[in-house]
Amino acid sequence: MSSNYPHLLQPLDLGFTQLRNRVVMGSMHTGLEDRFYNYGKLAAYFAERARGGVGLMITGGISPNRQGWLLPFGGTMNRFGDVLNHRRITHAVHREGGKILMQILHAGRYGFHPFVVSASAVKSPISKFKPRAMTDKEILSTIEDYAHTARLAQLAGYDGVEIMGSEGYLLNQFICRRVNQRTDRWGGSLENRMRLPVEVVRAVRKRVGEHFIIGYRLSLLDLVEGGNTWEEIVVIAKALEAAGITLLNTGIGWHEARIPTIVTSVPRAAFRSVTARIRKELRIPVVASNRINMPEDAEQIIADGEADLVSMARPLLADPEWVNKAASGETERINTCIACNQGCLDQTFSGKRATCLVNPRAGFETEIVYLKARKPKKIAVVGAGMAGLSAATVAAERGHDVTLFEASSDIGGQFTMAMNVPGKEEFHETIRYFRAQVKHTGVKLVLNTTVSKDMLQDFEAVIVATGVKPRIPALPGKEHAKVMTYAEVLKGEKVPGKKVAVVGAGGIGVDMCEFLLHEHHQPVDHWSAQWGVDLTSGTEGGLIESYRPSIRREVVLLQRKEGKMGSGPGKTTGWAHRLSLLQYGVRMMAGVEYLSVDDQGLHVMHEGQQKTLDVDSVILCAGQESVREIATEPPSNWVVVGGARFAGELDARRAIKEGAEAAIRI
Ligand code: NAP
Ligand code: SF4
Repeated sequence: MSSNYPHLLQPLDLGFTQLRNRVVMGSMHTGLEDRFYNYGKLAAYFAERARGGVGLMITGGISPNRQGWLLPFGGTMNRFGDVLNHRRITHAVHREGGKILMQILHAGRYGFHPFVVSASAVKSPISKFKPRAMTDKEILSTIEDYAHTARLAQLAGYDGVEIMGSEGYLLNQFICRRVNQRTDRWGGSLENRMRLPVEVVRAVRKRVGEHFIIGYRLSLLDLVEGGNTWEEIVVIAKALEAAGITLLNTGIGWHEARIPTIVTSVPRAAFRSVTARIRKELRIPVVASNRINMPEDAEQIIADGEADLVSMARPLLADPEWVNKAASGETERINTCIACNQGCLDQTFSGKRATCLVNPRAGFETEIVYLKARKPKKIAVVGAGMAGLSAATVAAERGHDVTLFEASSDIGGQFTMAMNVPGKEEFHETIRYFRAQVKHTGVKLVLNTTVSKDMLQDFEAVIVATGVKPRIPALPGKEHAKVMTYAEVLKGEKVPGKKVAVVGAGGIGVDMCEFLLHEHHQPVDHWSAQWGVDLTSGTEGGLIESYRPSIRREVVLLQRKEGKMGSGPGKTTGWAHRLSLLQYGVRMMAGVEYLSVDDQGLHVMHEGQQKTLDVDSVILCAGQESVREIATEPPSNWVVVGGARFAGELDARRAIKEGAEAAIRI
């Protein structure tokens, strides 16, 4: 056992099997599960994490039947042919000394296809298709399907299954009055509502025998109206334990809940107290989850007796070596998940393969490979923003001799501005990671140096990653003292007044509003009060009245386009940004034409009228332009990456990926 994080890294004896430590890689849909020809890639993805030391992994959701699909033709396990695919995963994981469960997920009314079924014919607010209420016969055959799928998973070599019973999927739909309006033996009283999950567990246990892990992910906080109370949740958890589950995993919030539960603005380990309460009620091990991303928190949760295991899905996407690095005392080198969702869930929900903003290899383990260079070269990387850091560290990891030039006094580029936005504190971790990685890989970092072409003559290859600068729109009065760029504000060079107009409602405009309105580092109790969350689940679903925050500034957010605004670019995070801005009273004006700025404020045309916004400050968040003066005519051994190559739609994900890809090609 490691002397670092001794509680987290101690084995767990489940009686018939042992887990090598308390780290669980929670289930996360990668998109690879849905096509049989991707199972080789999925096997490589899990094998890399098993090699990285994870104690127990859980696959993305696999449906027990067609009705349970998340997407048409989504991953299903109900024929012997499926077993052969899955064996590729289990063999790869076992070869690396890991253990893996297959998650059985019946999406119920969350399925995106016309065959959706549920407890009752109640459509979800986030779904396209209205479900059909299941008949008694269908419910019985679904129980049989779960048992059959679990048995096939056993034949495929899995160490167990996790039954997905939270986040508002089918079993959660049966358990809660919100969807279950039945009057037969599957609805009404709690005993009836929980009959389906309990019968599923009984049937699975009967089919797989005693020596097979059955995890159950139970919603401990529904965060929707018509959710369960704490008393009900305890009764359900005990019934599942009696029915034969081995582990209980924590689920927080239905997908349709309008309270963020995993985005970066949710405080770290915000829900640990919820898991701690259920642990006191049960004899089986329980798993804590949501917004746990670094070993300190994970260790503390186990040491404090709040959980027996800690589940992290995205953090292990970000760094497959997370456990090994923690064990060897190299915590500084953990590539921390910053809970942005940009590389993973935003991709999944756009029908694309999940990857990771900070780790472009995630999900692409067989395609993006950092092989040792056959002939090490002398390489210069110009610019130590995300693209330059990624390029330099990957090139050095491959054995090249890398010098990284940066004009300013520190690394990080645009990212160092983003990390000043309240709710984006996690971004500090990426800078810390790259700082450690620069040192570890032997990159020679040269700060405070603006390089000229002449200085780069001796290098065999040059990667230009000089980034972007704010776009200054052609706005009459743009020289007025009221006008400032987002960069000047986020760097602390200029301080906006009490009444502010934000010009441009893209990702940076939305971030700017958060910066103008919020404090840094919300403690858990402030966060739960702001969003109306009762962590003790004293009410149905754990919902309480949210408190109106005090307003630090009057902010108006503007854009020229018509349409809904305030969400920023994130598909899975945008709604939370918009709600947050509305809570803070941000006024949103779409379809404006900017006229000028003067002592009176910002003059605009809006809805056919000329209006003057009486503001103290006008902050320009109107996009960016490339900085690439050094590379206007790049020689053939130069490559330009990231924002310097193309400023439009630049984000850290593209920057890091392009940097890594350039380093692979050298
Ligand atoms: P952006 O998303 O392209 O938004 C630029 C905004 O400026 C738009 O609202 C645009 O709207 C406006 N604009 C463009 N040209 C203008 C002009 N000449 N005059 C006035 N307004 C103008 O860019 P960004 O906000 O600068 O963000 C840069 C990148 O970082 C984006 O790719 C973004 O996705 C990424 N980012 C992501 C996050 C995140 O949380 N995921 C956060 C921040 C940034 P109109 O043209 O309608 O006025
Ligand atoms: Fe974490 Fe963002 Fe990577 Fe997803 S994309 S795993 S949220 S860092």
